Amino acid sequence: MRAALVLIDGARVDVLRDLLNRGDLPNLARWVIEPGGLTTGTTVFPSTTGVAYIPFLFGRYPGSVGVPGIRWLDRRRAAQGSGWREQWRAARSYCGAQGSWLNSDVSPAAPSLFDLVPESIAICTPLTRGLGPGANRIATRRAILGSAAHYLGTYEALDRAVARAWVAAANEPWRFLLVVFPGIDGIAHLTDPFHPRVLESYRLVDRAFGGFVSRVRRTGGELPAMFVVSDHGMTQMREHHDVAELLEQRGVRTLRHPVHVWRRGAAAAAMVSGNASVQLYFEPRSGRGTPLEESNLPQSIVDELVAMPSVRLAAYRADDEGVVIRTREGRALLTDAEGLVRYQPENGDPLGLGGYIERDDRELLALTRETDVPDAPRQLLQLFQTARSGDVVLAAAPGFDFRGPWEIPEHRAGHGSLIAEHMEVPIATNVALPDSPIRTVDLMPTVLECLDVPVPPGVALDGTAFSKTAHAEPLTR
Ligand SMILES: [Zn+2]
Repeated sequence: MRAALVLIDGARVDVLRDLLNRGDLPNLARWVIEPGGLTTGTTVFPSTTGVAYIPFLFGRYPGSVGVPGIRWLDRRRAAQGSGWREQWRAARSYCGAQGSWLNSDVSPAAPSLFDLVPESIAICTPLTRGLGPGANRIATRRAILGSAAHYLGTYEALDRAVARAWVAAANEPWRFLLVVFPGIDGIAHLTDPFHPRVLESYRLVDRAFGGFVSRVRRTGGELPAMFVVSDHGMTQMREHHDVAELLEQRGVRTLRHPVHVWRRGAAAAAMVSGNASVQLYFEPRSGRGTPLEESNLPQSIVDELVAMPSVRLAAYRADDEGVVIRTREGRALLTDAEGLVRYQPENGDPLGLGGYIERDDRELLALTRETDVPDAPRQLLQLFQTARSGDVVLAAAPGFDFRGPWEIPEHRAGHGSLIAEHMEVPIATNVALPDSPIRTVDLMPTVLECLDVPVPPGVALDGTAFSKTAHAEPLTR
């Protein structure tokens, strides 16, 4: 048995369904969805590239393995000296030269799918930990075509290189294959998620899949267990509310990317992911390794942030335990004890759940699934597990992000927030899907089960194999 995971970065589930209905994705329809199915899953917060790849390859939430965002502040390192090198290192960003640091920042104790399945090949991935020699395909072309695409918008050339490498690898002796198509995310950022060039990129993936299928079948081979997924959704951005610039206007010197990571006398750091989420670190060079809890936060600044129309919700650590959720209308406390998550509104109902709730993890996923912030309780709890996450996190309301129009190139569309259109992702597979809601973190244990590879003793995954989720049917093909 073999398994292949095709990660279409930034693919929206509604666009995928629409193209399927029009008959534009015939290979996906015939070889994956007809024998299996397509469902709407949910990703992690922050819903952004790289960070949201962690669940697929590690079966863990980003907060469980110490990666709170595509940008974050290494508090201890920031205090290590005023030299340009220390400050540049402390202000983590996987968007540029530090991209490969994602591999070493993920907790060393967590094995990757590549570690557990040594016969793995990956095409165009930023996460490479555990890949054997020669298994990281088109790494050089990814670097060259990827940076050309970033500045010139030529994502189609990169996707075509991925497609060729995918078809070429069809009959190699791998057991697990990861294929990443970055084009939809990249082009949508420059245009919008429904742009003709974006739609054509979905068709490109389908044609490449057709090429892969015919090559496998020509030699009498059997199709692998297929998982076609994305890491986040995407929406058009109408307004950029630059939180760092807002803080500067209030006299709060703010450390931020790209050139203000050397900001003198910084009293705050703003680390943006996606660009629709931001984590704020106060006194960023104090050397304090532990994050601030509620009573030590600058309350007037927090109140002002919560009041912004661009903010769907703000969250931070409570004084005793748990996470405080704030919106313009209300406030709630979220705690997690002995497998039960408790949502206690103190006034209003920030997550729109109708009042006090105490449920186990899967029940809570089902309960929040249709709200405007699906899976928000679990996602906020997982993010604040890591001491690397900010003192305050903001999730943007629809149509807003947190980085100014100065960005080159400007993001006309984006993701990163907890809102449904960013959290919802397609999960298509030719194996049986469960009836209950699933998350992207459930994919890795499902792949391991398909390959009959056990989870090593002492390794606890955050996800659950499809066959073991509630109401699931046995895994068959
Ligand atoms: Zn993106």
